[in-house]
Amino acid sequence: MSCGTLFICATPIGNREDISARAVRILKEADLIAAEDTRHSLGLLEYYGIRKPLISYHEHNKYERAEELVGLLLEGKNIALISDAGTPVISDPGEVLVIMAREAGIPVTSLPGPCALITALTLSGIAARRFVFEGFLPMESRERKEVLESLREETRTIVLYEAPHRLRKTLQELRETLGGERAACLCRELTKIHEEALSLTLDEAVSLYREKEPRGEYVLVIAGKSAEEKDAEKRSSWESRSPEEHLKAYLDRGLTKKEAIKAMAEDFAVSRNTLYALLMK
Ligand code: SAM
Repeated sequence: MSCGTLFICATPIGNREDISARAVRILKEADLIAAEDTRHSLGLLEYYGIRKPLISYHEHNKYERAEELVGLLLEGKNIALISDAGTPVISDPGEVLVIMAREAGIPVTSLPGPCALITALTLSGIAARRFVFEGFLPMESRERKEVLESLREETRTIVLYEAPHRLRKTLQELRETLGGERAACLCRELTKIHEEALSLTLDEAVSLYREKEPRGEYVLVIAGKSAEEKDAEKRSSWESRSPEEHLKAYLDRGLTKKEAIKAMAEDFAVSRNTLYALLMK
């Protein structure tokens, strides 16, 4: 008996019309639909006249349930995976099932469709050619700090997901790390009646939400560090440090003395000999 296929089906992130004709057909044809929250998905499935057996597959049962689903796929069942909103696997359970299905040699195919990060990025007006998606920042404070630090020098556009009750804290931490002048676009209620995409700086965003209660789910699109910002930082740090301090900063970053002198010569646009002479003094 040949095995079935696992179909990753993107579903709307708000507007029920945002689902592909192919996804509707596959959901109608599948033997089984694995859904993050079966009750939540019933509304959408009923709207499209889809009546199929549903099985829950969520964060808290993903390992055991993935094994069961792989068993069913191996028996020849076709299974469609959906999540509460958007593309399964993207900040949603699904990864484990896809990994296990592929390891078992089961065909996996993904039906493209709505994804909040892409929707936000495309309407943000912020450079979209190169971007980094962090999903939700970790809750655990050390891990969270590490991720935020890793974004400090990021030059690509940064995209994050955030829930309303954590928005204020996240905006404040982003401002501390990236600076208050950084451009951002705060997107909420995407594809819904009250869709909003506010272009502002991180300073403005923090002030705004001091007054306003965050509502709905957010995608934060934040500009990466610009070349001008990098230059300005470099200039101000050169101006406030002696050559010895510069040298120490490079050595502290793990460069050898020779590498540090080379880097400094480039920074100051002077010859290495001039620098040696200066440091010897
Ligand atoms: N798999 C989904 C996708 O493809 O975008 C993401 C699921 S993740 C659990 C949920 C997060 O996505 C929300 O907290 C929010 O950050 C973002 N999101 C989902 N729908 C949204 C919408 N309509 N407007 C703004 N953000 C949304």
